[in-house]
Amino acid sequence: MGPPAIVWLRRDLRLTDNPALSAACEAAGRILPVYIWAPEEEGEGAPGAAQRWWLHNSLTALDDGLRRAGSRLVIRAGDSLSAIRSLVRETGAGSVYWNRVYEPSMAERDSRLEQALASDGLRVETFGSQLLHEPGRILTAGGKAFRVFTPFWKACLAAPPPPAPIAPPSTLGDPADVADPGSVASLGLLPGIAWYDGMEAAWIPGEQGAWDRLETFVDGPVADYGRKRDYPAIDGVSRLSPYLHFGELSVRSVWQVVSSRAASGGGSDAFLRELGWREFAHHVLWHFPETVREPMNPRFTDYPWRDDGPELSAWQEGRTGIPVVDAAMRQLWRTGWMHNRLRMVVASLLVKNLGYSWRAGATWFRDTLVDADLANNTMGWQWSAGCGADAAPFFRIFNPVLQGEKFDPDGSFVRRYVPELRKVPPRFLHKPWEMPADRRARVGFGLGRDYPEPIVDLKASRQAALDAFKALP
Ligand code: FAD
Repeated sequence: MGPPAIVWLRRDLRLTDNPALSAACEAAGRILPVYIWAPEEEGEGAPGAAQRWWLHNSLTALDDGLRRAGSRLVIRAGDSLSAIRSLVRETGAGSVYWNRVYEPSMAERDSRLEQALASDGLRVETFGSQLLHEPGRILTAGGKAFRVFTPFWKACLAAPPPPAPIAPPSTLGDPADVADPGSVASLGLLPGIAWYDGMEAAWIPGEQGAWDRLETFVDGPVADYGRKRDYPAIDGVSRLSPYLHFGELSVRSVWQVVSSRAASGGGSDAFLRELGWREFAHHVLWHFPETVREPMNPRFTDYPWRDDGPELSAWQEGRTGIPVVDAAMRQLWRTGWMHNRLRMVVASLLVKNLGYSWRAGATWFRDTLVDADLANNTMGWQWSAGCGADAAPFFRIFNPVLQGEKFDPDGSFVRRYVPELRKVPPRFLHKPWEMPADRRARVGFGLGRDYPEPIVDLKASRQAALDAFKALP
């Protein structure tokens, strides 16, 4: 039997449609699947607190899956190059396989490691599987990166279709022997205080959980996705985002299942277009890595955004006094996820009405979302702030009261997360400050006592933001 092959798993925590794993299994009789915990190598894309919980569970599920197939996951922590070199010394491995990632810090680290391992005499094989199309392949007629979504997506649809997903390997061979396989628990990803019951109730991390979620979505909600995707109280979206981030399910599998099984038309086309936004965000970040920190539109470089202040904590903790915003921020805190419509609403309030930097919002999301994803998060925040690629114009400032009334018309989403508003009648649910004092007294609801007064005057702050925008060079 030849030397074993190391399979370095990162954002591809799955057995199905994992080209690096399949190729290693074909090439070598013995394989060594390894996960290396090295958050400092991931830069701004490193998992925050909510994602550490997810990762703990996802790695545990991956190890279970590998064990059922006769293998197991080796766990290491610390510098990736040293960890791989030491596994090579211990097992005599002759090759290293991985699926490519495109976030700036990780991509830079990978190219450094590829050279170092090749100069050690190892065979390094890398594969594309995180996206539908390799970044750099979808370009304008002039060979430039797209900055606008619609022509980008047209070019994707006109390009050769993404490779079909591949089945899990039929055999993983014998696991290569290592004295100490390590353990997921030893990484200490779970917090000391178990604050994650809301996330436990909402999610089943891991490949099986991902496929179950996809099946549920394709059997039901996808048909009405185009109509219902904006209503947070309804189960109208896929909630596949954390699985896609950690690669428990490949985007190519989602693409194939949805385009082949769901009836084509409104629902599935609208959904596939959202996968297109994911694709766009990743391509944009790959071409413009500086957008993690800098606005894509240089006009905003000197916009007088604030980074810290008391309203920031009120926003984070869901006590702004604006019901739909507070419900959304509490959904985030409790479940590690927030509905897309609400992400846009809370981002608009933070950046435009409260005047905080999109970076402050993006940082909070990175720590609290189970699906925090450097490319999607950066694009989402810059889009909302009006300074990104194909962004919403700055002057389009969401009115959170109207958004609440339109997308949570019966108030069931707000009531779920803000129970202190239960005595407020539907007419005033999204604007309790407009409820006359005598009616408040009659139903026993105290504004400022049971629920905060709004921390910002929506009309005046909107005007102030528009004035600041007009003053930009
Ligand atoms: P669905 O509506 O079911 O969409 C399916 C998939 O398409 C998603 O899982 C996601 O991978 C992709 N997708 C959908 N909408 C977008 C979008 N606007 N941009 C990029 N990809 C999209 N998404 C993240 O995955 N991680 C983030 O950190 C993130 N931060 C965001 C921050 C802000 C301020 C905003 C406005 C949006 C952000 N998004 C982010 C995009 C979007 O809100 C989520 O992808 C979506 O809500 C996830 O839920 P879902 O899986 O049910 O989505």
